[in-house]
Amino acid sequence: MNQYLNELRSLQESACKAAEAVLVALGFKREKDDEFCGTLKVTGIEIPFRVILHGSFPWILPHLFVEREKLPKRIPHVEANGKLCLLPDTGILIDSSRPADVLRDILERAQSLLEKGLRGENAGDFICEFQAYWNAAASVEELGLICSVDPPSREIVVVSYEDPSSGQPKQIAGNDLRSARTWLQKRALKRSSFERGYLYHLTRPFIPPDFNEAVPTEELFAWLKNNSTPAMYTCFKWEFDQRDQPFVVLISFPTGPNREWTVCGARITPKSVYSNLSEANLEYPEAPNYAERIRRVSVKRFDAGYLLPRAGATQTLNSKQVIVVGCGAIGSALSAHLAAMGAGRIVLIDPDTFSADNVHRHALGFPCIGVQKARALRHSLQTRFPHLDFEHRTERVEKVLEEEPTLLESADLVVISIGDETIELMLNDTLRFEVPRVHAWVDPLGLGGHVLSIAKGSHSGCYRCLFDEDPKLGLFNKASFVAPGQEVHQTFAGCAGYFAPFSYQDADQTAIHAARLALQVVQGAPAKNLLLSWFGDPKGAIERGIRLSHRVRGFDPGMLRITAEFANPYCLCTNWR
Ligand SMILES: [Zn+2]
Repeated sequence: MNQYLNELRSLQESACKAAEAVLVALGFKREKDDEFCGTLKVTGIEIPFRVILHGSFPWILPHLFVEREKLPKRIPHVEANGKLCLLPDTGILIDSSRPADVLRDILERAQSLLEKGLRGENAGDFICEFQAYWNAAASVEELGLICSVDPPSREIVVVSYEDPSSGQPKQIAGNDLRSARTWLQKRALKRSSFERGYLYHLTRPFIPPDFNEAVPTEELFAWLKNNSTPAMYTCFKWEFDQRDQPFVVLISFPTGPNREWTVCGARITPKSVYSNLSEANLEYPEAPNYAERIRRVSVKRFDAGYLLPRAGATQTLNSKQVIVVGCGAIGSALSAHLAAMGAGRIVLIDPDTFSADNVHRHALGFPCIGVQKARALRHSLQTRFPHLDFEHRTERVEKVLEEEPTLLESADLVVISIGDETIELMLNDTLRFEVPRVHAWVDPLGLGGHVLSIAKGSHSGCYRCLFDEDPKLGLFNKASFVAPGQEVHQTFAGCAGYFAPFSYQDADQTAIHAARLALQVVQGAPAKNLLLSWFGDPKGAIERGIRLSHRVRGFDPGMLRITAEFANPYCLCTNWR
């Protein structure tokens, strides 16, 4: 280890020497330990320039700074402290064996960036960096946004609450008071006050003001007027004249090649407030500046339209209601995957209470022992995803069917993983081909897992099709990797300690496949119903003396198979038309 560290150190020293040679040849002088000063000549102008080789060069690129005040005009990609944004700090592959070339390359990039900036060729990039400019001002209010930022322009509410961890006041902007309150309730937060805000939708973006540059009210109004329709502007101006309190206006506009919404905010003060205040300026010390300037509001977006696409979630599921029947190891993992995929509303059904036995294979952990699984899982998911809706039922699914007969059939997707074949068969016969549906289950001891997807209106096999009847053994699942007629449950303490031996990984792997198939089913992609099986490692099962089924012959360990050929021509489902 020590020798390795020594080698790294000498590599770094020689990289820094090579870099220094390049800089000295360009007329740079060492100012401090790893800081070099010089000038770069850009479009005939000498610009003071600093290069800082951090302790981690050549693995981390040097940081380059210009003196912003010495630039003849504002150019994009220069931060408030003069740092040039040339490449992202992480995620790029640097050829660390050629430190001199790496430095030359980065200096060339800096030169070209400054040239383009001074010639005005990349002025459009100010828009890309809008948030960086807008949010860097000295006194910025922060605001979380939970409403949709799509048009039209409209009134919204800004609700204040106390952040429990910091004790500081915070605010969120919602479509209306009700949705804002619901969002706060989901996070166990209480609103302290609310005010009326406004969402102003521009058809075009505007160039952001410089860091810390004061924004006169007239200028803001000019941006609004010049980048939206006259009617929109008139409505807003009327609203502004009516108000008698400072209020927040959120400004949304399309940017980038995909025309995504960028949102910034401003707290503006109506003239009526200012004239009152300037007479008695005591209550509001900032008043003299306030009428001329606006206070910038930095917007943190928590709305589904922003959060979902950023993490590979899908808008398809966001408008859907998903029912999860069974919140055991698979069901809990599956509901977490569905929520992560953006399912807008998830109803969790499970009558059981979470017990210590499941701590190592369930999405819930130790603190939830003794709590009903559906309730605890709802709480856990709601905390993770406050912009999604969750509900729970702590009755058995048969009871739910009896009391709310339309709940399951009106769902956009039903996922079933109860680990009870009798009930799953009953649900299969009830839901038929009328509701998109997924069944998921595992074989014991890491043997594998299975997912069956049923598309709406398809007539190509059902869950019951997988079952065969043996004269001696009764019904058995043909998809299973375990030969029929064996007891695979284990017990440590008689009937009370009865459990099916499988791991969190088995459950989660099955849940992941189930979530992917579920999405396809909701999107209506597979025309046929599908049986997916993954085969794990049979060693554990064989060691326990479990006989494997004939189906295993088609599988190697680690193999995944999806088939549409599983329908039984004698099954009940052939009559479901
Ligand atoms: Zn069938």
